[in-house]
Amino acid sequence: MANSFLDEGYIFRSKYGPVSIPDNITLPEFVLQDAELYSDNVAFLEAVTEKEYTYGQLARDTRRFAKALRSLGLRNGNVVIVVLPNMVEYGVIALGIMAAGCVFSGANPMAHATEIKKQVEAADAKVIVTNEIVYEKVMDLKIPVIVLGEKYIEATIYWNELLQAADRANIETVNEPIKQNDLCALPFSSGTTGISKGVMLTHGNIVANLSSTLFGIGPELVGQVTTLGLMPFFHIYGIAGICCATLRNKGKVVVLPRYELRTFMSALITHEVTFAPIVPPIILALVKNPIVHEFDLSRLKLQAIMTAAAPLAPELRDAFENKFPGVQVQEAYGLTEHSCITLTHGAPNGEHAKKNSVGFILPNIEVKFIDPDTGRSLPCNAPGEICVRSQCIMQGYYKNQEETNQAIDSKGWLHTGDVGYIDDDGDVFIVDRIKELIKYKGFQVAPAELEAILLAHPSVADAAVVPLPDEDAGEIPAACVVMSPNAIESEEDIVNYVASNVANYKRIRVVHFMDLIPKSPSGKIMRRVLKEKIVEKMKTK
Ligand code: AMP
Repeated sequence: MANSFLDEGYIFRSKYGPVSIPDNITLPEFVLQDAELYSDNVAFLEAVTEKEYTYGQLARDTRRFAKALRSLGLRNGNVVIVVLPNMVEYGVIALGIMAAGCVFSGANPMAHATEIKKQVEAADAKVIVTNEIVYEKVMDLKIPVIVLGEKYIEATIYWNELLQAADRANIETVNEPIKQNDLCALPFSSGTTGISKGVMLTHGNIVANLSSTLFGIGPELVGQVTTLGLMPFFHIYGIAGICCATLRNKGKVVVLPRYELRTFMSALITHEVTFAPIVPPIILALVKNPIVHEFDLSRLKLQAIMTAAAPLAPELRDAFENKFPGVQVQEAYGLTEHSCITLTHGAPNGEHAKKNSVGFILPNIEVKFIDPDTGRSLPCNAPGEICVRSQCIMQGYYKNQEETNQAIDSKGWLHTGDVGYIDDDGDVFIVDRIKELIKYKGFQVAPAELEAILLAHPSVADAAVVPLPDEDAGEIPAACVVMSPNAIESEEDIVNYVASNVANYKRIRVVHFMDLIPKSPSGKIMRRVLKEKIVEKMKTK
């Protein structure tokens, strides 16, 4: 498993050997391969309305939408921003964009209008796809908007009509062939530092990640898995880890547009979900919330849950396993910059990584653990920053060479900002995060973004945002604020001010006024010191 190299030190590889990655195939082709053999099988099913999309419809409408985008004048490499909740049309939209040679960039429909505007500008987007509810947030942006819904909104492009017009148009799906190393997705992530940036992923990156991720799924499972589609499809976990992975194996995605415990439980039971990728806060609710007992748990067909995006406390895992015996807990670790999953549980031979580890290294992926101070790679059982090298690594941050160079070193290693170690059996354990990122219920919150908003307030002289541990959310953003002399605002005023500028999940939950933000001689905020200070202060409250 571990190989030593004189120049690079300790490098660890999967104990399960390499898997082959298909050549010269786009992501839509990879995902929709053999779709015609399963044309009557349901690909997407909306959990509440029971609206369906079969594989036949999915393949047909993906081509229609790609043609429609071409007829609007879009060309290879153009970015299309999709601001939609999870819905059955999402697959057609994302795959259609990619099949046209364009680049899919998902945005959170709960985001504030100014946040969406920033993403549209940062991505140089040419078209937006949204629905009639979210439309208000994008109506002032001066690019064409395609709107899904029941009614036509003036000055927009109506989804149904667009597809029908494409049927009549004499135009090809693509006019330049798409290559495997062309971009297909531009999700946004703050990485180890700074504000959210476009993560450039190619068809080849995501195909490679799916090939590694699905290595344990045998032919007997093709067409058999029903996956819960609750994690947001605008995030890499939702679009690649859930939609593309399930569609590749011709399973069914049961779509939930938002999380609400009763609807969630009812979807699991009514639609016989067998695999539910979720995040730790939902596991907490399943364990603790009495609503769960309103349901007949003996009717559950759930075989496994996957938990990723944030750490899972060992006690929570134990409590879940006691309450849901027979449901496997598969932890996974990944990141947007690595096209989704990197470490996981569950190999084809039935082997599992140890409890409380985040999993073993997937095939085709190299991992090393480096001492953050010296950069030297470390042997087994020694914690260090996790670095990853594989075909899944992003091409870089869009128009941001400086941050790209910080994230990917000259030997091709992606520095994750997470700290962990590998044991003698090849199981990896995460012990810390040294990057700035805050994870609220699995959602990314970039401190730099909230700090910029705080500093724009006329009464704020200096500010820093740090994560605080929280049982419900995993982490919550806390602001340390130095107010200008004579400022009269209260902590609540600051909380409300930030809330009026950001999506709900990014709200500041705690404010601490202080005289000085501790900074290093080079001017960097000493986040760890601040975090410890606040935790200590809250204990004595
Ligand atoms: P994102 O790019 O939004 O998927 O966020 C990736 C980050 O989420 C990683 O770099 C980790 O900090 C965190 N993360 C993902 N999976 C896990 C996990 N299983 N345990 C702990 N942290 C995780």
